[in-house]
Amino acid sequence: MRIVLLGPPGSGKGTQAALVVERLGVPHISTGALLRNAAKRGTELGLQAKSIIDKGELVPDNIMSDMIEERLGRDDVAGGFVLDGYPRNLAQAKSLDIMLERLNKPADEAIHIDIDTEQIIKRIAKRAKEEGRSDDTKETVRNRMRVYAEQTAPVADYYAERGLLTRVLGDGSKEEVLQRILSILDLNTSSA
Ligand code: ADP
Repeated sequence: MRIVLLGPPGSGKGTQAALVVERLGVPHISTGALLRNAAKRGTELGLQAKSIIDKGELVPDNIMSDMIEERLGRDDVAGGFVLDGYPRNLAQAKSLDIMLERLNKPADEAIHIDIDTEQIIKRIAKRAKEEGRSDDTKETVRNRMRVYAEQTAPVADYYAERGLLTRVLGDGSKEEVLQRILSILDLNTSSA
């Protein structure tokens, strides 16, 4: 199954992606994690990306499409994938479509995690304490939310127009949100 997971910063997208891939046995492709790894390794691209990430801006599309194309070209995506953090604007959505079409692996589902601003702020404040991510400062979070509203929210509409989008509520426990997602994917949740 090939899934695109969408949602504002702090929506629990990364957490849910990790849980869903556990069930599906497909790779979790997180562009945020790929970029943070590159920064940690100190590669030129990683260091360039870090200064952009720390401002809450988007890393340029050409860098992202190279990164995602390389990742999607690997053998482990044969059985599917969960994409987390890509696409983040309409240009990326269109280039992803072209890439997946060429690979003969079109997206099956897009899932958007809905969450209100108040909860986002609470969750990110908690994560800032626990993880110390350098882009979880107040100023940067405000900018990430603005970038999300202006550039990423239209991506959900793009998938909706293709009949691929389902929205789930992101409130409640991790397990509750996971069950909502699994039921959209028609996965047996008989233990619940
Ligand atoms: P979140 O969704 O919680 O903001 P991510 O880990 O997905 O966190 O992304 C962190 C940062 O990495 C983003 O704010 C952005 O700067 C950069 N980034 C991640 N994915 C992309 C992308 N597809 N295009 C451009 N920048 C990206």
